[in-house]
Amino acid sequence: MTLSARWRELVDQLPDRVHLLAVSKGQPVAAIRQLAELGQMDFGESRLQEALPKLEALEDLPGLRWHFIGRLQANKVRAVVRSFGFIQSVDSQRLAERISRISGEEKRCPQVMLQVKFRDDPCKGGFGPAQLRESWPELIELPHLKLIGLMAMAPMGLSLQQRKNIFQECRDLADELGLAECSMGMSGDWSEAVDAGATWLRLGGVLFGARVKSAQGPTDDINDV
Ligand SMILES: *Cc1c(COP(=O)(O)O)cnc(C)c1O
Repeated sequence: MTLSARWRELVDQLPDRVHLLAVSKGQPVAAIRQLAELGQMDFGESRLQEALPKLEALEDLPGLRWHFIGRLQANKVRAVVRSFGFIQSVDSQRLAERISRISGEEKRCPQVMLQVKFRDDPCKGGFGPAQLRESWPELIELPHLKLIGLMAMAPMGLSLQQRKNIFQECRDLADELGLAECSMGMSGDWSEAVDAGATWLRLGGVLFGARVKSAQGPTDDINDV
């Protein structure tokens, strides 16, 4: 199947409330351009060094929305705030405060999703649910970012049922906090995420096919029991 056909088939299966984030890390500019022509406007990148030249090469396309989805180091915040309208991987109060301060200086107001870690996972950052509830009164006071939702990533190696449970916990916590958006579900489990109430799916492999360049980040696990 071609890229266009895969995109069309995916989009046709999604309920209206669910947005598709095309995770374009490791993908060439030409593929992004091809999807943009079909109407795909939201793209996700996880590494700044890789993303910046691509954003620049695509500057002629109006209306693209760039989402930062990778681990965000303190010294990259300014560059990310300048180039990305969405940051889906805000994994600590400290980082949120820094983003707000720098966004103020840069006259920006990024839309932010807080990354939540629902299970212990040494490989990933994120707020624990209890920690997020505790930080919440201060997070909602941050003036230069717009909190729109939560982002969850399941640890590697979980069964599909275990991932479903995480998706449900993420939806419940977002509802408790009054947040509309839940970014959860990747290539191997997006339909379970939709059932659990995802509003954003972050899809790389299932949309683009194999990555062209090696890219860090989660890959599909094969424990779909
Ligand atoms: C790479 C990546 C994805 C996409 O993963 P696929 O399995 O290729 O769909 C989603 N979210 C994050 C944070 C990623 O880094």
